[in-house]
Amino acid sequence: MTDSQNRAPAAPQPRAAVMAIHAYVAGEAKLPGVNRIIKLSSNEGAFGPPPAAIAAYTKVAAEIHRYPDGGSTALRRAIGTRFGLDPARIVCGTGSDELIGLLCHVYGGPGTDILMSMHGFTMYQIAGTFAGSRVLKVPEKNLTTDVDAMLAAVTPETNIVFIAHPNNPTGSLLPQSEVERLRAGLRPDILLVLDSAYAEYVEAADYDAGQKLVDAAENTVMLRTFSKVFGLGGMRVGWGYMPPAVADALNRVRGVFNVNLAAQAAAVAALEEPGWVERCRAHNTEWRARLAASLAAVGIKVWPTEGNFLLADFATAAAAQDADAFLKSRGIIVRGMAAYDLPHCLRITVGTAEECTLVTEALTAFTTSPHA
Ligand SMILES: *Cc1c(COP(=O)(O)O)cnc(C)c1O
Repeated sequence: MTDSQNRAPAAPQPRAAVMAIHAYVAGEAKLPGVNRIIKLSSNEGAFGPPPAAIAAYTKVAAEIHRYPDGGSTALRRAIGTRFGLDPARIVCGTGSDELIGLLCHVYGGPGTDILMSMHGFTMYQIAGTFAGSRVLKVPEKNLTTDVDAMLAAVTPETNIVFIAHPNNPTGSLLPQSEVERLRAGLRPDILLVLDSAYAEYVEAADYDAGQKLVDAAENTVMLRTFSKVFGLGGMRVGWGYMPPAVADALNRVRGVFNVNLAAQAAAVAALEEPGWVERCRAHNTEWRARLAASLAAVGIKVWPTEGNFLLADFATAAAAQDADAFLKSRGIIVRGMAAYDLPHCLRITVGTAEECTLVTEALTAFTTSPHA
């Protein structure tokens, strides 16, 4: 036996890059001993699934022995019709998470750098590291992507830049002029990914979810999801609008039947639900502002947000932890932000009117009464 055989590990070893990854921690959903949970930890739509999606899901139950359409043809056509996009440039995924992973593997890999902002969505770090890339987190200004810092961080090895647009968990949004300045400052061979999971909630007048930049050149991708405003997080459907060459590359390596039969049917029906997005957006705009104002009124700093969530800033990690525990004692689950290097903050999803009122009452009690 040679030395190297003697030293061989006794069990299969994962690649080192895999063991450097901290697994994604999803929002909590249960509290021991609590019957009624108010779950405001995962930015799910406030109103559940669209009724038409529930009906479509139920209707296909007897057909689930069939493989789905691997090309998600009807769904891509429905998305194209709804958003005025060419279905040939749309790729659907098992949530946009799958598309984030595919983009990292297709355009990243060993020897490449992926850039994201300091408090950007952690899936970019997980997927980029898994692909073998070095993931660089670029400092932000006021919890917002700093375009100058981002451009300064570009190396000859940089292949992908991820921007959540608006960002989760901070809620911040780059003005369109800044997104365009970022794109113009990046080499043309760097892929810019605008992850617009919360596009439907944005009220900024200059907002473009990414379509303009995708159409303008061959190097920008827009990601969207059915998990937020469309209320289908449990179905796992996301999509991207992209240059034909990027779609061609992804279609070679994505799961052949990545979007399942029920998910395709539910997503098509969700798009057809009359007035759904308008109703959800109006509710969110109203209650996002009311929630922010009522927290500010009891002395809790709230960062500006364009999503269906807000970042409440308690100044210290200890205060944020106390607030989190106090909310849990009332059955309310929000999201701790230690994993995002914001341990002094909690992210709170804008729920129904009743849920927002309960959060407000709880945090008012927390800040105005002793709670040792
Ligand atoms: C929720 C979210 C997604 C969507 O993920 P899915 O896999 O489609 O459920 C993507 N990006 C960001 C920034 C998100 O917050």
